[in-house]
Amino acid sequence: MKQVLQDKTQAELAEVVARAGEKSFRARQLGEGLIHGKRISEIPVSADLRARLLEEYEDEPVRIERVFTAKDGTQKFLFALADGNLIEGVLMKYKYGNTQCVSTQVGCRMGCKFCASTLGGLVRNLTAGEILGQILVVNRLLGGGLKDKRAVTNVVLMGSGEPFDNYDNVVRFLRNVTDGDGIGISARNISLSTCGLADRMRTFAEEGIPLNLTVSLHAVTDAERARTMPVANAFSIAEILDACAFYFQKTGRRYIFEYSLIAGENADLVHADALAQLLRGRPCHVNLIRLNAVKERSLRAADEANAQAFLKRLLSHGISATLRRSMGSDIGGACGQLRASYLENGKGNEAEPMS
Ligand code: SAH
Repeated sequence: MKQVLQDKTQAELAEVVARAGEKSFRARQLGEGLIHGKRISEIPVSADLRARLLEEYEDEPVRIERVFTAKDGTQKFLFALADGNLIEGVLMKYKYGNTQCVSTQVGCRMGCKFCASTLGGLVRNLTAGEILGQILVVNRLLGGGLKDKRAVTNVVLMGSGEPFDNYDNVVRFLRNVTDGDGIGISARNISLSTCGLADRMRTFAEEGIPLNLTVSLHAVTDAERARTMPVANAFSIAEILDACAFYFQKTGRRYIFEYSLIAGENADLVHADALAQLLRGRPCHVNLIRLNAVKERSLRAADEANAQAFLKRLLSHGISATLRRSMGSDIGGACGQLRASYLENGKGNEAEPMS
């Protein structure tokens, strides 16, 4: 694979252009074209510069291969990377704007038992530009521009992959996507979800990127957590909570816990009581979601009444919590369903592809 030009900061783009012996306004042209989701070959720089760039850099590092649209308006994208790998992303439409869920790795090696993204292990890390590229091409497809004209207003790093297992590329992506000279999405409109790599959470707290840090907890004791999340053998809940407190101390941002309700596993009222005990007094919020059953796994979702009772119990303890509704489940776009069924049967699923 050639290099990815969308990895570069605006300053690095200026260096690339200067090294090619071109005037500095070409760097601005190039940067603006890339941020608008254009291929290098579409950007009106000099023919000479374009030819030189195309020798070294991928013309189209992220291409939209298919789009699926759910009944609730949620769209799932199948993206093709330059080396032929496929990744998925989801766009959720809310009253306040559009939230895009991006992938940070092809596959994942964290091994969570309820998650589809980890079934084939880790294939490779995405580069910063391949993460950004997912947003740029969707923004372009929807006719969006930059800053206040963006069609993608919010970003969540909750697609396939563990963001902190691809730390350097993810941080570079975050710096580029929040750059006011770029697409300019503010850190407060970005959420990053981690399975709880406590050491990286601490390092990240000092990067000066005050985004919404989200931690996948899904259990109240280390032993129970280890049953579904192998990462629990590397980092304890206590270490994770300490890292969260450090994040709050450094950024002033309250943090969020994801808790997927699994029948017979973590969804009884005793678990709600223990969770409240664990989180009491902490500046955090709990996002409950009913497990989205993945067909390769035997775990089942807690039913709606169970989920409501769990929520009520948490709230009665004074814990800030909400039960998230799952979006896009009819197109396999819901949490944990991100999986290229396309690869298996060549047609995605029952939903009608848009293109
Ligand atoms: N690696 C990151 C981001 C991955 S996915 C992390 O672990 O946080 C984003 C969220 O979806 C995580 O909270 C993850 O635990 C959750 N998730 C994965 N599979 C799920 C499923 N089948 N049902 C419900 N939530 C799921």
